[in-house]
Amino acid sequence: MTLSVTVLGCSGSYAAPGGACSGYLVRAGETAVWVDAGPGTLANLQRHLDLDELDGVVLSHAHPDHWVDVLPFHNVVRYIKPRTGLPVISPVRVRELAAEVNGDLGPGFDWQVVADGGVTHIGALTFRFSRTDHPGETLAVRVDGDGASLGYSADTGPGWSLAELGPGLGLALCEATLAPEWAGTVQHLTAAQAGADARAAGVRQLVLTHLQPGVDADRSRADATEAFGAPVGVAAIDDHHEVHP
Ligand SMILES: [Zn+2]
Ligand SMILES: [Zn+2]
Repeated sequence: MTLSVTVLGCSGSYAAPGGACSGYLVRAGETAVWVDAGPGTLANLQRHLDLDELDGVVLSHAHPDHWVDVLPFHNVVRYIKPRTGLPVISPVRVRELAAEVNGDLGPGFDWQVVADGGVTHIGALTFRFSRTDHPGETLAVRVDGDGASLGYSADTGPGWSLAELGPGLGLALCEATLAPEWAGTVQHLTAAQAGADARAAGVRQLVLTHLQPGVDADRSRADATEAFGAPVGVAAIDDHHEVHP
């Protein structure tokens, strides 16, 4: 199967009405990995696969809009569909917080801590991590599979670039949390900043995500398209994108 990403949730900071926070199902070949587990994404994940079929979980950072659904998912692997050794990859702080809430994370999870520059393989997918410009250790990720490459910014301010993920990104999911008037106030991006950075990084296709509820998606799309120099998408739940080499 071609490298692909399905949007499970894309609200920034908190979920919009009927929405879900950050989460993506990334697949290539027979491999399926849940990248970020924001609130609401466990429910949406089950529309796309049986939870038995999941091969791993990758979590970008400790802000609750990116990982807390892994806590009830631990109930699934521990009690309901028991399994052992499912890879969960995150910065150290996420593992600490998860252990405070759920106690022993094994044997269901094989929780592995990763940091800037780390590389992890899950089945047919390779993950490379890059520390972004965002409070607390936050890791953007490049995913390679089936000869194609996907970039995910996680959360970042303008002090980091998609270029840190390396050349040849067929598609980038880039955060665009902020309305233009909020530029520079917090370590997040506006849509125009996301578009300009993706252009500079040589990204072929750009999809904005993590828009804060209330931010005008049409205006964000227009701002990013102007800065990127080609049409830009705005993520919506259940969107499916194939990433081509
Ligand atoms: Zn966030
Ligand atoms: Zn964050």
